Amino acid sequence: MNKKPVSIKVEEELHRCPQCGYEDGFHTSFVRIDQRRCRIILICPSCHARYDPDWVTEL
Ligand SMILES: [Zn+2]
Repeated sequence: MNKKPVSIKVEEELHRCPQCGYEDGFHTSFVRIDQRRCRIILICPSCHARYDPDWVTEL
């Protein structure tokens, strides 16, 4: 489906899209890694760029 999300780092706060400058935060998407774990992907609501902050959560 979509191309691989771009790696992104949280400095003091992460609310601005580096690609288009949108400043009101991100939508989230959960990509399953295996039965228990998902990777959290951030999606810019304005330009739809996808970012991977390297966050993994257990369901
Ligand atoms: Zn954007």
